[in-house]
Amino acid sequence: MKPAPFRYADPGTLDEALAVLSAEGAGAKVLAGGQSLLPLLSMRLAAPATLVDINRVPGLDSVEVTGDGVTVGALVRHNALLRDGAAARVQPLLARATANVAHPAIRNRGTTVGSIAHADPSGEMTSVLALTDGSVTVATPDGAETVGWRDLFVGPLETSLHGPAVVTSAHFSALPPRSGTAFAEVARRKGDYAVCGAGVVVTLDEDRRVAAVRASYVSVGLTPEVHDLTDAVVGKPVDGADWSAAGALARTLVDPDSDLHASADYRRLLVGVLTERTLASAAAEAAGRAA
Ligand SMILES: Cc1cc2nc3c(=O)[nH]c(=O)nc-3n(C[C@H](O)[C@H](O)[C@H](O)COP(=O)(O)OP(=O)(O)OC[C@H]3O[C@@H](n4cnc5c(N)ncnc54)[C@H](O)[C@@H]3O)c2cc1C
Repeated sequence: MKPAPFRYADPGTLDEALAVLSAEGAGAKVLAGGQSLLPLLSMRLAAPATLVDINRVPGLDSVEVTGDGVTVGALVRHNALLRDGAAARVQPLLARATANVAHPAIRNRGTTVGSIAHADPSGEMTSVLALTDGSVTVATPDGAETVGWRDLFVGPLETSLHGPAVVTSAHFSALPPRSGTAFAEVARRKGDYAVCGAGVVVTLDEDRRVAAVRASYVSVGLTPEVHDLTDAVVGKPVDGADWSAAGALARTLVDPDSDLHASADYRRLLVGVLTERTLASAAAEAAGRAA
């Protein structure tokens, strides 16, 4: 199918983009990489009156890395983030999760921020934003504001952003000291959306005992959630921790749905298996960093 007719604007500045979005009202949509929006248009699942293409807006294509974390501009493509070594050193989950986003051709064009603005519960980067306690910066005609992940995601494909707004960047907090991370998922084919994915962070205390364990899942809830699994393993020496206890706890905390890809029971089983697997790997990394 072909998209319904739409007007197209390609403003050269952020102010111009906001002016077009304000003038066009609810019928206007931001176009970034187009890797989610254009399929929706082609299938006529969306029919915006105007597309506001932000690709000519300057200053949105950089990755800034500081000791606090990684700030990813709205026009940074998935593959650029995947290859950013400085970003991966400060927050390794970024590259590990991005490697599971779609196929290389889609990652060449699709943006990390677009993926977050799209708020797909099957997207990897919404769950990474949550797990890293991240936020987005949003430009509106009234100025810029920061929105934390808990206030951003309100439902599948739905954010709290309304009215003229352009997400200019997403901020992912740095990996805490003595911590390790891992990310893994199960998909029917490499590059497909995950049937279930898991990202975890393990933090050790100064005696190399488990101090904190957090996990976030992909394709499991309607919006990203972070689950605290610390109680299952707290105080255990990192080398002898029983990660199956954390996997069992995780299974009780999630409430997945069934769909044509997998039953809720299968997803819950995968949550346990992936949690156990990723925690073993993240703990080994944390142990290396704590040494
Ligand atoms: C075959 C296929 C497989 C895929 N597999 C995966 C996968 O496994 N995992 C995954 O996470 N994604 C997957 N994707 C989606 C891909 O990651 C997209 O790149 C991403 O979801 C959206 O980014 P985009 O830049 O393409 O956004 P667009 O398609 O341009 O926009 C998506 C939505 O976000 C809004 N938006 C985008 N940028 C902004 C902004 N800066 N400010 C405000 N609103 C904005 C748009 O208005 C639109 O509503 C897949 C896509 C395809 C076609």
